[in-house]
Parts: sequence; C-alpha cells; structure tokens
Amino acid sequence: MNRQCTLRESVCVEGIGVHTGKPCRVTLRPADENVGIVFHVSGQQIPALAEYVVSTDRCTTLGVDGVRVMTVEHLLSAMAGVGLDNAYIDVDGEEIPVLDGSAKPWAECFYRVGLREQCAERQRIHLTRPVSVMAGDRGIWAMPHAERLLIATVHYDHPLVGTQVAWFPLDKINYLEEIAPARTFGFWEEVQPLLARGKARGGSLDNALVIFPDRYSTPLRFPDEVLRHKVLDIIGDLALVGAQVEALFVAVKPSHTLNTAFALVLRQTIQGE
Ligand SMILES: [Zn+2]
Repeated sequence: MNRQCTLRESVCVEGIGVHTGKPCRVTLRPADENVGIVFHVSGQQIPALAEYVVSTDRCTTLGVDGVRVMTVEHLLSAMAGVGLDNAYIDVDGEEIPVLDGSAKPWAECFYRVGLREQCAERQRIHLTRPVSVMAGDRGIWAMPHAERLLIATVHYDHPLVGTQVAWFPLDKINYLEEIAPARTFGFWEEVQPLLARGKARGGSLDNALVIFPDRYSTPLRFPDEVLRHKVLDIIGDLALVGAQVEALFVAVKPSHTLNTAFALVLRQTIQGE
C-alpha cells in the first residue's frame, strides 16, 4: 500500500531569496494526514494548490489576500520527489531560500530528518481523458496511463544547449540522484535585464548555472542539466494539483506559467469527475 508521509520532526532551513536577495528562513513541521502542504506566512495560511498561484514571473509565487510567498517550486519539487505529502511550512520572509539553486539540499534535508508513514493512503487519481494546455510553440499534455511517465523537451537557440529531450518514469526514478541536483540556469544576456527589473538580486554563481555564449559558469552536474532542471520545476509545479495523477505527461518548452496553468486545469478536471 502506498501511504501518505510527513516529517518525523520539525526542521529549520535558512538562506537567501534568489529574487529579493534578502535573508529568509523556513520551518517545516509535521502535519496530520490529508492536510497537504500548507504555507504559513505573516499569519496567513496559503495551501500549496494551483488556485493560489498569483505570479509566475521567473518563479512560482503563491498568495492569499495580498500575502505572498515566492519561489516555492524547488521546495515543492523536493517534497513531491521524496514522497512527502503533509507538512506545514512557516515562512519568515517573503521567499523560499534558493540554497544552491537545485532541490538537492531540500531532498537531503528531508532524508536526514526522516519521513514518517501515516495511516491514510496516498491519493492517486486515474485520468479518464486527455488534458492539455498550449501556448504558442509550448504545451503540456496528460494522457490516461497506468504509470506516471514524463517526456520533456526544451529548445534554446544556443550552441551549447540546443534541443534536449528525455523521458522519466516518475514512479521509479531516484529523485535525489537523477533530478534534485539540477540547478536553476540563466543565460548571461538575461542577467543584466533581470537585475534592472529588481529580480535575481540574490542570484550568484553559487546558486545558478550561468550559460555564457561559449561556456558554462561551472561544470555541469548532468549533460542535460538544463532539461533536468525543467523537469524538477514541472514536478514542483504539478505538486500544486494536490494529488498524484496517473498519466503520461508530455511537456514541450515548459515554463512556470504553462506548468501552473496546466496544474489548475488538471485540478479542475479531476474535481469535476
Ligand atoms: Zn527552477
């Protein structure tokens, strides 16, 4: 039986926000079964569900009544990746710490603290019809399938990156080894405009892979690290569905805007059935 899990005990993680550049701290606490993932920010509860997405400009931001929490996707990806269903996340600051720009420190933290199996069974939803969201040359599709499989492809007009495609059996992959280490990336020519817009103030070569015209800022952790980070982001954004959906997913040039719109449509579809 596939049971829900929470943390064995509370854990505190500190760092800086990649977009605000400000110190931030989160305390993750165990939660009862069927609670799901719930952020606590400035006295406000914000469930990690697609209807609470308020912005997808460079990161996924959740909010309720003007209270926001930015850059939730890598934390949520790690939780989904290790099978952590229920937790409260107390946020001190307005952004989740970026750490090394990947989900590895989060996943390692959860394994270090340990997971506690709960009585309730993990919710798995059988999709009964295809669901898709498309925007220009981008799109995500989900088709009924007994296993959770993800085929993803990205294309960048850059000689080092180009087109990357791979498939991942989401129920069988070793998330900690195969997905979690893939870092946030940015193209060198994007960095200056972001700084001008007040974004990526906490960004540095320590927490992002910068892609220069002819080289990477540091050695790659995977030959297709760019694609794998996109998969990491998809896993985090799809956690906003609030349940595991059994489907074959195909993602073409995914983005936070596309991923979270898709999570909302998927959530509405399974609620309407
Ligand atoms: Zn990301």
